[in-house]
Formats: sequence, structure tokens, C-alpha cells
Amino acid sequence: RKGSVIITGASSGLGLATAKALAETGKWHVIMACRDFLKAERAAKSAGMSKENYSIMHLDLASLDSVRQFVDSYKRSGRPLDVLVCNAAVYQPTAKEPSFTAEGFELSVGTNHLGHFLLSRLLLDDLKKSDYPSKRLIIVGSITGNTNTLAGNVPPKANLGDLRGLAGGLNGLNTSTMIDGGEFDGAKAYKDSKVCNMLTMQEFHRRFHEDTGITFASLYPGCIATTGLFREHIPLFRLLFPPFQKYITKGFVSEEEAGKRLAQVVSDPSLTKSGVYWSWNKSSASFENQLSQEASDQEKARKIWELSEKLVGLA
Ligand code: NDP
Repeated sequence: RKGSVIITGASSGLGLATAKALAETGKWHVIMACRDFLKAERAAKSAGMSKENYSIMHLDLASLDSVRQFVDSYKRSGRPLDVLVCNAAVYQPTAKEPSFTAEGFELSVGTNHLGHFLLSRLLLDDLKKSDYPSKRLIIVGSITGNTNTLAGNVPPKANLGDLRGLAGGLNGLNTSTMIDGGEFDGAKAYKDSKVCNMLTMQEFHRRFHEDTGITFASLYPGCIATTGLFREHIPLFRLLFPPFQKYITKGFVSEEEAGKRLAQVVSDPSLTKSGVYWSWNKSSASFENQLSQEASDQEKARKIWELSEKLVGLA
């Protein structure tokens, strides 16, 4: 049978390129889990994906009700689940004020981390049940976890501190909107959310890999300077960022190439190692990368797991 893979945020950028790469093999049915149904349908059509290789299901990660509804509909559809890819993200580098999810969490951490945390916890049983040769849970990370790169060290740097803001619910009322309890900073909130993504992947690995055989992985696909992620940045930045990445840092990858990389992490028979953060070198060969100290802190990973369980109503 074909493999079944759910990709969140498959309506643009990396998610769409990955959906296209997997659909084209004819070996995968891609479930595009998107907040904007029409946008996703148009995106799939213009990418040339053929009908029998994908379906679109509504999912708004900024609402825990929506996450629960998505999981219910998926379970009712009777489809197996072989791979889950947590890819969607919001990035608000120029926001002066925080925005919030339906439950009142700061939007970047609420969407990128808490929405995906609930989604993957609720779908873990379905992954366990899969009889596919290699079942996987992939959470897209970012360079902010790399200590060995320049871009991973650009301020504001990720810093989760003692997690006091997360413990308080990130709502800006009786607590800060930032995980570390500091002043709101949209770029930092995004980076913090990606560190949570990478810590969550490792915590999943420690808790579930041995018993379930599921491969848990994260990756930094390279700098895809052309995606919608930078849509809220100032125009001058959007103009200069792609050539800067192409010619100065040389970290630039096309959406197509990045999509192939993530598709490898989904389906390549040689990438089954669990607990790994994948990166690619200049000749596009994959390697196991090192994470920064904070992004590999086991004690923090455990605390984030427990606090997140409370916030999403699992504990
Ligand atoms: P895009 O903005 O192009 O894609 C983000 C996707 O997430 C879109 O499909 C968007 O939907 C979706 N999304 C946003 N909010 C929600 C929500 N509340 N519910 C459901 N879906 C949502 O960015 P990229 O493709 O660049 O980003 C994809 C991943 O790659 C992210 O995890 C990002 O952190 C990571 N990444 C990106 C890098 C880059 O250089 N671009 C580098 C490293 C990592 P919609 O189309 O409706 O807006």
C-alpha cells in the first residue's frame, strides 16, 4: 500500500515542496493539514499534484479545539498514519505587540510548539498502530539550535530561561508572553518555539522510541529565503535577504531542494535513526548535526513536556 503522511502547513513553502516531492513518487498519499482550505487546494493544483496523491484536511494549530477536531476526523477517516510532519510555523519579526491563539497563548509558541505538541501526542497511538516498515514523527527545527553556524548566533538569541512564562501560560495577563518571562520580542518568540520543537522531538525519542519503534527526528533544511515565512518582514529585508543568503552566507536553498531534504527524512530507508537532528552539507549530503547546549538540555526538555501537557489539557 501507499504510505500515509500528514504534513502541517502544506499550503506553502517547505510544506508544499515536501508534499509535492512525496506525491510525485506515487508511493505516498499526502494529507495536507492546513488552516486555509482554498489556498491549499490552489497550491496543490499549481504544484501539479495529482488528485489521487493527496487530500486536504482543515487544521488551525492556533486553536486546540481545531487540533482535537482534526485528530477526530482523521481517526474517523480510517486511514492509517505512517508519518507525521510538524512543519507549519508563524514568524512575526516586526510585531510590536504579541498576538494570541484561541486559548490565549502567545501566537508563535502557541502555534509552532503547543499546537504541534497536542497534535503529535494525540496521534502517537495511530503511529504506533501503523504496520508501515518505518514510521516516523518529524518536527521541523531551525538553525537557532546549531551552535556551529553564524546564523545560529544572530541576536535576539533563543533563551528559554527558567520557563517561568511558559509555566504561567504565556497570556500576558498574569504572566509574560515570553517563555523566559521577558519582554515580548516576536523574532525571539519564534526562535524559542523552534528550540521547544527540537527539545520535544528528543523527549519523544527518550520516552517512546524503544517501546514503539517510531523514529523521531528534527532537521534544519537550510535557509529557504523565499518562503512566506518572511512575509511580515520589512520590504527592504525581503528584497535583500535571498541574495544575501545566496552569495554571502551561502546557506540558501531553493524551496524545491529543501522539500527534497524533508522528503528524505520522511521516506529515505537510510534515515531511520531516532533522536537525530539532520542537516545537509554544501553538496547536499545529509549528516547528523550537533544541537546547541540549550536545544539538547534533557532537564529542560522534561520540564517543557510537563508544562506543555498542563497547558494543552493533557495532564
Ligand atoms: P511558510 O510561511 O511558507 O509556511 C508556513 C506554513 O504554516 C503555511 O502553510 C501556513 O499556512 C502554515 N501555518 C501558519 N500558521 C498556521 C496555523 N495556525 N495553522 C495551520 N497552519 C499554519 O514558511 P516555511 O515554509 O519557510 O516554514 C516551514 C517550516 O520551515 C517552519 O517550521 C519553519 O520554522 C521552518 N524553517 C524555515 C526556514 C526558512 O528559511 N524559511 C529555515 C528553517 C526552518 P498559510 O499558507 O495558511 O499561511
